[in-house]
Amino acid sequence: MGHNLREGQSLSRQKLNKYSKPLKRGSFAHSKGQTAARSSAKSHQAERLDQNWLQSVLPSPQKSNDLSDEQKRERIAACFAEIMETLGLDLNDDSLADSPRRMAKMYVDEVFSGLNPANVPKITLMKNSMNYDQMIVVRDINVMSTCEHHFQTIHGTAVVAYIPTQKVIGLSKINRIVDFFSRRPQVQERLTKQIADALQTLLETPHIAVSIRAKHYCVIARGIRDTGSETSTSDLRGDFREDLATRDEFLAAAASPSR
Ligand SMILES: [Zn+2]
Repeated sequence: MGHNLREGQSLSRQKLNKYSKPLKRGSFAHSKGQTAARSSAKSHQAERLDQNWLQSVLPSPQKSNDLSDEQKRERIAACFAEIMETLGLDLNDDSLADSPRRMAKMYVDEVFSGLNPANVPKITLMKNSMNYDQMIVVRDINVMSTCEHHFQTIHGTAVVAYIPTQKVIGLSKINRIVDFFSRRPQVQERLTKQIADALQTLLETPHIAVSIRAKHYCVIARGIRDTGSETSTSDLRGDFREDLATRDEFLAAAASPSR
């Protein structure tokens, strides 16, 4: 009897382990340890960070659950099959049969992968050893996000600028930060702020500017069906907000035709 009970217990523990993959917290702790080990080597100029900076970023409205990515895919596929059936679609049709699974995979692994802190990009910062103190502008950053009100695409470009103090960031890392926060259900205002928060925290400079121009496919596909309109948002901080010349220089860079 007692033996059976133990067996039952260990079985359920195995089952638990199988389904509760080390998600957010596990990978947080893991990379923290790695970073600590690396920075103790001390020989490199480049500074590799753990993911704690994410906590300084305006949060998306999320409620954590214990589902693994695989469990999420299974549930979403079942729910999406129900939506399709409700619409009167025949899931036995060759062309439609795999759509629920494709949708689930696309949501979890691609368009909403930014909801999972485990997918946060690895950021490397360099010491600003040449004491560069002018504006650094990155333009034409692709923004591919999803409107959280209609789950339709938001597509546009971002212009990001900063004036460094002690640290500079690899330019492609700015694209990765924009991409990470884009891969969530979003409103453009929050996306703009999240990118600015992330850069302000990582670069430890108050002088940050983010501007996004995007088309919202919910506006194009439904309601008013306006294909031409664009939405602009910006978040100007530090000198980009206070200093008129800096502000004008950035806004001119952001507004001018890119190609
Ligand atoms: Zn919308």
